[in-house]
Amino acid sequence: MAGLETIINVDDHEPARYVKARLLSRAGFTVYDAANGSEALSLIGQHNPDLVLLDVHLPDMNGIEVCRRVKSTPASASVIVLQISASAISAPHASAALDSGADAYLTEPVDPQVLVATVKALLRLRKAERELSGANDRLKLLNKELSRSNEDLQQFAFAASHDLQEPLRTVTSFVTLLERSAAAKFTGSEKEYLQYIADGARRMRALIDDLLRYSQVGQRPASLESVDLNALLPAVLANLHEGMLEAGAEVTYDRLPTVTGDEAQLVQVFQNLIGNAIKYARPGVKPAIHVSSSTEERDWVIRVSDNGIGIESDYLQVIFAPFKRLHGHEISGTGIGLAICRRVIEAHGGRIWVESIAGQGSDFYFALPRDAGADVDLRAN
Ligand code: ADP
Repeated sequence: MAGLETIINVDDHEPARYVKARLLSRAGFTVYDAANGSEALSLIGQHNPDLVLLDVHLPDMNGIEVCRRVKSTPASASVIVLQISASAISAPHASAALDSGADAYLTEPVDPQVLVATVKALLRLRKAERELSGANDRLKLLNKELSRSNEDLQQFAFAASHDLQEPLRTVTSFVTLLERSAAAKFTGSEKEYLQYIADGARRMRALIDDLLRYSQVGQRPASLESVDLNALLPAVLANLHEGMLEAGAEVTYDRLPTVTGDEAQLVQVFQNLIGNAIKYARPGVKPAIHVSSSTEERDWVIRVSDNGIGIESDYLQVIFAPFKRLHGHEISGTGIGLAICRRVIEAHGGRIWVESIAGQGSDFYFALPRDAGADVDLRAN
């Protein structure tokens, strides 16, 4: 594409300037000639060139000064400066030219082919640099849009689940009233219908509560404090006491690390994982659950293993998505527990996964960074 890129050719020596101008015009560039520094600066201001070919020796000011002015003026700072000087110039001069902001440096006599090739190479580099910075800007914009829509979505989930509570409370209250006041008049199947309504309302209540919890995990910043997991587990087990007794479950744990995180959110993670390990027990097999840990190079890895029903390999990923369940109503649940765990752990800069053999048991793992610092996203998203 001839003539698209503009070069200011600065040299006080007329024959040399002429040769370079011809060479560059033939190579397809638009060339403007300047015989001294001030002429060069005014042409640069006028034409906004892509490159300045700058002789170091000029009558009014030297090329190093011209270069410094070009690079310190915001409008021309990104113009490429290629300095050219006589062979007698020493290395300190060359480094002074580069220090003044020049992008490259050639010494006379310059081979015509080398000059054109150098100019082209510098322009290629600049083009790639511009493309990269354009891509970077687009990426930043996309990222901003993404976090905005993510926030909108979270606020929507919060508002929706919050607003659904009220009408549901009305349904539940009137069903209870109806059961109390009119139950004697109902036939067997009418009583059954009423039971279905009450069950449905209860399940919806659990769903809304969990959805609310899920969206709140995303809204609340995770505070970062030292959490001794050995002190945290007894509190978790106390919360699960009833369920453990009912199932005859045994929960054991090794010495565990002190991690950095939000205590309340970590309680929620353990409660969901151990609660599931109790809930998804094999029929006739008492749940035996063990919590252990290992120290990796960058992470603490915590493992919750059970001897329950296990999970088919096809479902190991999907169970962490919201509302994904592998069971019907025969086992209570909303399918939100593991999604909450994933949100919490990812907000702590960690990750969560499961290994399992169907029919034998599951090992849920989560990794938390040992050096939880600046790179931890304080908000779950
Ligand atoms: P919920 O338990 O409310 O269904 P979760 O998000 O906690 O929701 O779990 C999603 C699904 O993953 C469960 O429905 C169950 O099928 C499976 N699951 C979770 N934990 C276990 C486990 N320890 N053993 C076997 N299956 C499990």
